Amino acid sequence: MKKKLNFQTKAIIAGRPVDAISGKTFETFNPANGKVLAKIARCEKADADAAVKAARNAFENGPWPKMSPAERKVTLQRFATLIEAHTDELAELESTEAGKPISDCIEIDLPETVSTIRWHAEAADKIYDQLSPSGPGVVSMIVREPIGVVAAILPWNFPLMMASWKLGPILAEGNTTILKPAEQTSMSTIRLAQLGTEAGIPDGVINVVPGFGEEVGKALGEHMGIDCVGFTGSTEIGRMFLRYSADSNLKRVLLECGGKNPLVVMPDATDLDVVADHAANSIFWNMGENCSSNSRVLIHSSLKDEFIELLIERARDWVISDPLDSACRLGPLIEEEHMKKVLSHIEKAKKEGAKLVYGGNRVLTDSGGYFIEPTIFDEVNPKMSIAKEEIFGPVLAILTFETPEEGIAMANDTDYGLTASVFSASNKTAHNAARQIRAGTVSVNCYGEGDISTPFGGFGLSGFGGRDKSLAAHDQYCELKTIWMDMS
Ligand code: NAD
Repeated sequence: MKKKLNFQTKAIIAGRPVDAISGKTFETFNPANGKVLAKIARCEKADADAAVKAARNAFENGPWPKMSPAERKVTLQRFATLIEAHTDELAELESTEAGKPISDCIEIDLPETVSTIRWHAEAADKIYDQLSPSGPGVVSMIVREPIGVVAAILPWNFPLMMASWKLGPILAEGNTTILKPAEQTSMSTIRLAQLGTEAGIPDGVINVVPGFGEEVGKALGEHMGIDCVGFTGSTEIGRMFLRYSADSNLKRVLLECGGKNPLVVMPDATDLDVVADHAANSIFWNMGENCSSNSRVLIHSSLKDEFIELLIERARDWVISDPLDSACRLGPLIEEEHMKKVLSHIEKAKKEGAKLVYGGNRVLTDSGGYFIEPTIFDEVNPKMSIAKEEIFGPVLAILTFETPEEGIAMANDTDYGLTASVFSASNKTAHNAARQIRAGTVSVNCYGEGDISTPFGGFGLSGFGGRDKSLAAHDQYCELKTIWMDMS
């Protein structure tokens, strides 16, 4: 497999694969068996400096920011087509590194990565600047300019998709970038950057510095030569980037963080089969390692027993196996430490008095992989930690309410605010709830995140400063400039 997958383990700086300056490497593991997959360049501050130098040079002196948007569009479209042509390779790489089911990688992650780059490429030459209504004596232009060198700090749960959410608007607007993949999933990002070079994106426009957060991630956060950081990851680390910025050059910081998202089932929700389908998909998809998963079901008490039966039926259908098996729907969690953390959340929930009605165990232990079965807790109350903390595993908490108002209040009883789902037969009830729930995306009668044309990001501890996806993502990677020309 190693040969077939063509593991790429070096940093990419100025278009070339390079070792870390120190010569150090770190091991990356296959979460399906715990074995070492490869040794990756362990970048540190010196490598961050080299990447910033390359990105700055490409920004100041290279063709990318000066190209017409239409030219950038064509290059980015070529990039998307090349990613598409490498779907099988990238899907297999991502499945192996991240433990994601191969069918999800092929049917969801790769197509979305391709369509994201394509959508932002298309937008490149369709966004206009403005003239202000300042009267006939002046020409007052409000122009958008690329912000400069942008570092994108990435998580491990959707490595290629999250890279594309950042790369699409960053590159379409003429910026240059440094990608810092999560240490668990470096190789798909490195391969992505290589395809960018093959597509004709100039050297230095996409650099990749794999390594540890507290080493190269921190160096990027504190760097005086970086103009903006687009971060996706936990709230705890997101906060650090605000501090890094405050203590260095006040670089713009955009944070996409975690969530404890509610799925609210109103008393008039008619088709509980549909609700159970969406609820299962939302919490078990990607092993629950999904910022937008609905990890709290808030359901009217009259519907709960029937709903739990339907949900358990579905949980039984989630095939747990090697992620490269096409039947797999639930692969391993990303690493041993994370599996232990999820198992400790399960134990704590039991101790706090929640009722385990399905799952709760590590499984396929002989494989050496980090598999946990779908897990459902009933009789959860809002004070329990399982109702409050982001677990980031296939673990669902079910809580009940008596009135729609109480359901909405419970939905808002969180410091996060990324996504929510509402199920109701009444448009009025659903719409009222959608307007009152404090979250960046509220889906009605489905679990969903919208599509590439809709902004994605969170209220409260779920985010800061901007949005991924949609045209909103373009604005955040631009500076606004006023050009005031006295014509009198
Ligand atoms: P994480 O916060 O641990 O790591 C994210 C990135 O930050 C990684 O690249 C990591 O190396 C880096 N990092 C870690 N410590 C650092 C430090 N001290 N200084 C600088 N950089 C550092 O998150 P994760 O475990 O990779 O991902 C899971 C989290 O991501 C969850 O909370 C999830 O909800 C969130 N997430 C959010 C979205 C969204 O769009 N809102 C999408 C996916 C994941």
